[in-house]
Formats: sequence, structure tokens, C-alpha cells
Amino acid sequence: MYYGEIKNCDIANGEGVRVSLFVSGCTHHCKDCFNPQTWNFTYGQPYTEETEAELLHLLAPHYIDGITLLGGEPMEPDNQRALLPLLRKIREQYPQKSIWCYTGYTLDKDLWHPDGSTPDSRAYCEVTDEMLSHIDVLIDGEFVAELKNISLRFRGSENQRIIDMEKTRASGEVVLWGSKNDDVNRVMRMKDQPKTER
Ligand code: SF4
Repeated sequence: MYYGEIKNCDIANGEGVRVSLFVSGCTHHCKDCFNPQTWNFTYGQPYTEETEAELLHLLAPHYIDGITLLGGEPMEPDNQRALLPLLRKIREQYPQKSIWCYTGYTLDKDLWHPDGSTPDSRAYCEVTDEMLSHIDVLIDGEFVAELKNISLRFRGSENQRIIDMEKTRASGEVVLWGSKNDDVNRVMRMKDQPKTER
């Protein structure tokens, strides 16, 4: 895996103060993508053991709330395989810190089926279930230029969802994330989602 950037004090891509990792490689090619250079799987620098150690080090300060994975597409299979060891170590070393992840895939279509069946998508692979098990909040869905809304918190277009993964795993249906000051704490099922071009 390659990555384009690491931010050590990011307040724009998730709740609180976060470390952000922008991975390279994305096969969605959304119209008006904000970061098209990251479509290339070899954009930026190779992700190495030293990179992983640096990320774990950056997560140590008490004021860091967690890590956000974005890109590019963290849920491309090759990127999932490279990121899983990092997520395991974060869970071991920093169980109180949160893991947020952005994906252009749709959770309950491409990555996880509430009925337990295996998703038939180009994203699903042998590590996807474990990868998802470590994620606290998943922002899913491609960026749809026609649904762009700059007033949205933590997302670019209205079709995208901020999903509470713990509640989703517990309930077996997609539950949206909401903080105390956020009015999006409500359940939205797949049938209520706007249809987007894939
Ligand atoms: S998923 Fe994200 S990085 Fe990939 S093309 Fe769409 S907006 Fe760009």
C-alpha cells in the first residue's frame, strides 16, 4: 500500500482531534472527486513498518481522540490487508481511542450483509469482516457531485452516511452515528437510501 499524507492534528475528518491517514488507490472515480491524484495505487510513499510505528506514536498523546482512515479508498482489498495489522495494534495499545474510516463503498451492499450472507462485491475479501469489527464509525457511499452539500458535517454529499458501527453490529441494521449535539441520531434502513450510480 502507498499513502499520500499523514495529518497529526486533524479536526475536520471526525470527532475531536485525530490522526489522519490518506491511503492511495481508489477505483470509484467519482465525478468531481476532491482528491483524484489518490486514485493511483502508487501515489505518494510506500506504507512501511516505520509508517505504522509513526502512526502508533502519533496516537499516544492524551488529546488525540483517535485515527481516521481516508484516501483514496481504505476499503480496496489491498488496502484493507495493509491496514488490518495497524487496526489490531491500535485496539491493543489504545482501546479507548476511536477508529473512523471513509469509504466510497456502501456498507450494507458491498461490505456487510445483515442476514450474514457474503457480499458479492469487488471490495469484500478475506479480511473485511475483521476490518469492520475494529471500526467505530464508517462514512460510506461514493461522492455524488449532484448531491454535494458543503454544510454537511464530516461528509461531502447527501447520500453519504455516518454510521455507528457498534450499534449497527448490535442491532443488525444500519444505525447512524450521532453525538450529543447532532440531530442525525436516527435509524436509516437501506430501503430509505437515495439511489446512486455505481
Ligand atoms: S471514493 Fe473518494 S477518493 Fe475515491 S473517487 Fe470518490 S471521492 Fe474520490
